[in-house]
Amino acid sequence: MSEHIAVVAGVEVDTRHWIGGQRVASATTFTDVSPIDEQPVAEIHAGTATEVDAAVAAARAAFPAWAALSVKERSEILRAVADGIEARVEDLAQVETRDNGSLLRSHRRGVMPRVAMNFRAFADFAEHQLGHPDMEVPGRGHRERITYDPAGVVAIITPWNAPLMLASWRIGPALAAGNTVVLKPPEWAPLTASLLADIMHEAGVPAGVFNVVQGTGLDAGAPLTAHPDINRLAFTGSVPTAGVISKAAAANIVPLSYELGGKSPLLVFEDADLDLAVDLAVEQFDNAGQVCLKAARMIVHSSIADEFTERVVAQARTLVQGDPRDEATDVSALVSRRHFEQIAGYVERALADGARPLLGGGPDTELGGLYFRPTILVDAAPDAEIMTEEVFGPVVTIETFETEEEAVAKANDTRFGLAATLATGDPDRAERVSQQLRAGTVWVNCFFVRDLNAPFGGSGRSGIGREGGIWSFDFYTDIKNSVFAP
Ligand code: NAD
Repeated sequence: MSEHIAVVAGVEVDTRHWIGGQRVASATTFTDVSPIDEQPVAEIHAGTATEVDAAVAAARAAFPAWAALSVKERSEILRAVADGIEARVEDLAQVETRDNGSLLRSHRRGVMPRVAMNFRAFADFAEHQLGHPDMEVPGRGHRERITYDPAGVVAIITPWNAPLMLASWRIGPALAAGNTVVLKPPEWAPLTASLLADIMHEAGVPAGVFNVVQGTGLDAGAPLTAHPDINRLAFTGSVPTAGVISKAAAANIVPLSYELGGKSPLLVFEDADLDLAVDLAVEQFDNAGQVCLKAARMIVHSSIADEFTERVVAQARTLVQGDPRDEATDVSALVSRRHFEQIAGYVERALADGARPLLGGGPDTELGGLYFRPTILVDAAPDAEIMTEEVFGPVVTIETFETEEEAVAKANDTRFGLAATLATGDPDRAERVSQQLRAGTVWVNCFFVRDLNAPFGGSGRSGIGREGGIWSFDFYTDIKNSVFAP
């Protein structure tokens, strides 16, 4: 077996880049550590500007032929990619779990099937729904034809919390639209991107259409964002990184799509179905709270606050924390030592500032390692760091309100605007409040449900642009209007 192959959870993963249809090695590597036990799982090739240049050049060279295929031909190849993902769900699930510590059962049942859908749904959309009938210029007899031309080379940079899902959500529409792609996966969870390259190759995606450059944000991400030969930049990650990337991309006037952090609210009104509201609250500990859409701030009507809080604490206490490969586990470890210390720091400062823990409040001392206990805090001041900053871990706060206006004001009192969830039994209130909330996605009496054809993105600091359905193609194409004389 090649020295570049790591065997992770019984699956062979190539640790090199994938550039122009070939595996490419770098002079140096970095160590990929599993959060489950903080043990090294692979030495990953560390890309730099050299590999980025090669990948962008390969993507550029492959672009004309890929763009020239009919939409039907491209879509058929992408459906073969979806088939390939479905055939390897178990491998992908096992490797992702080992790599970023998220639950194996979630990968098997939800995440990896969704990865396949990200290829199938956008291939279908491109083939059957993209394009408009010709329009006529009123009174002139000219015909206008609007076409969606591929933009060129798309750079995609992704975070570690759901690396393959978030990458495929961008790669699917970008390729379906006729672009070629350079992906820079997260250094804390780089493995499934390499398996995706294998699957693409086997499905018949031509050399150079999809490229992967592994590496850190600074060494591989930065040169990609500043590259003069990329035509789109799709970034999912944190607000501070987005600020840095914006500057790098500005010189080349590259259109950006940003999906960033959040500090989303869960509003619980006095007329809510309390069983549902409690379930929605406890669901926020999924993926150890490392979910951008997580409702971190629970804003509850004072008349039901005691009962709601008591029940949420009781139910959250029953969550099983442990190894993510165990079917019984509900909450796993945080992704890395550095991230663990950041989360612990937020909670320590919140407690020092007067917040009170009703559950958790620190590391799980029995499990040790990177296991941080589900934490519910009350009595934090409205302007405290714990109430205003994104805390990307299993930490939520509970506060109260008296009137609907106050609830909406508190929900909107954030510089983020990714999502908002409300629990109410009153349909009029549901309409009224959902209209007033400033967020890219509002869930009423539900959470985390979304069709791939619906728009997704964030308001405020939570992002730039929307993707999903036609909104993805708006971003990944150069929309052209050709006017034909009568
Ligand atoms: P991050 O910003 O630290 O890193 C994201 C990616 O950017 C990584 O691949 C990293 O290597 C790369 N990067 C870092 N510095 C770079 C630079 N200077 N130039 C180019 N690339 C660089 O974010 P993270 O910690 O990996 O992810 C967590 C964040 O992602 C949270 O804020 C979370 O809310 C957000 N997120 C958002 C969504 C969404 O859809 N809105 C989804 C998942 C995660």
